[in-house]
Amino acid sequence: MMRKTPIYLDNNATTPLRAAAITAMQDAMGPPANPSSVHGFGRNARLIVETARTAVAMLAGCRATDVVFTSGGTEANNLVMAQYDHVITSAIEHDSVRHAHQNCHQIAVDENGVVDLDMLATVISGIDDAAKPRTLISIMAANNETGVIQPMDDIAAMAESANIALHSDMVQIFGKLHINFAASNISYASLSAHKIGGPSGVGALLVRPGCRLSSLLRGGGQEQGRRAGTENLVGIAGFGGAADDALGDIGHYQTMAKWRDTFESRMLEQRSGVEVFGRAAPRLGNTSCIAASGKAAETMVMAFDIAGVAISAGSACSSGKVKPSHVLESMGAGPRAGEAIRISGGWATTKSDFETLADVFLQLYKQPA
Ligand code: PLP
Repeated sequence: MMRKTPIYLDNNATTPLRAAAITAMQDAMGPPANPSSVHGFGRNARLIVETARTAVAMLAGCRATDVVFTSGGTEANNLVMAQYDHVITSAIEHDSVRHAHQNCHQIAVDENGVVDLDMLATVISGIDDAAKPRTLISIMAANNETGVIQPMDDIAAMAESANIALHSDMVQIFGKLHINFAASNISYASLSAHKIGGPSGVGALLVRPGCRLSSLLRGGGQEQGRRAGTENLVGIAGFGGAADDALGDIGHYQTMAKWRDTFESRMLEQRSGVEVFGRAAPRLGNTSCIAASGKAAETMVMAFDIAGVAISAGSACSSGKVKPSHVLESMGAGPRAGEAIRISGGWATTKSDFETLADVFLQLYKQPA
């Protein structure tokens, strides 16, 4: 049953490199390249960094000067959280937000994984005026496990009227839906290159003018004093190449939503005990978090792998071990969380990938548990 060319449907974990990213990285490799140097080599390197910054800004709908390059989404999240004394966040954030601050107040989500706005309003109203300048709200725009999209406009309006800074982890939404950071009331946003067809180890924090940001790392004055350390030139070039390319295929994710919906409908019709998490909420078009009763997710991920389809169970963990998903637990999934698998398409995913996925799914779930 193993396919000659395996199908990759784990793009929320990481994506294949786009050709444009590879070319940009190849072009940046070789010559001495410190963008802070004043000689011709340095000026060339500076041009590469600023070209990439403009490409990232175009995709995020912000000014190039808002973009602070970091080593990825994790660093961007840690960097912004460190600027504040108290953080209000949600129960479904990525670990790089959840574990980045000691003084964290978590907002619950409903059974579809949408942040409880009433609870957020209550928590905001309990913050006294003196504490507001030291408080940050941090809510992700779209979840990596379920694809559920949060009502960021409503959250931004609440933060704005309370005069509290708002950060959004936009790692998963970036490149999949149009973002207009400059026109939003969001103060900060985190991005990551390897979720859009760029290399891992590079990302950015977007910072609205006037919002505080001082470098966590002590060193040189790179990134206008906001992130010390000689720039990861090759990575940044790849990020820019990927962002440039991604601008052209945001519509791909709308088309993919139809393939994903067809897949889910087939599963729901043909097999009892199937549940799709977050289905009643707005979701990214590429993600399906689905459980079929009677099969442990970890076993299924292995069976899919043998059948030539790469997917993941709940949240992929850096250690390779799968922990119970805090996202599904906070949505009230209970023991079903252990059966949930995550399917996530990317820029290279085709309709036939989703069709094959459906065939393999039905075959595997027919077998005895
Ligand atoms: N935030 C979200 C929602 C993610 O999905 C990830 C990666 O899985 C990150 C942050 C971390 O990004 P990076 O891998 O670039 O550190």
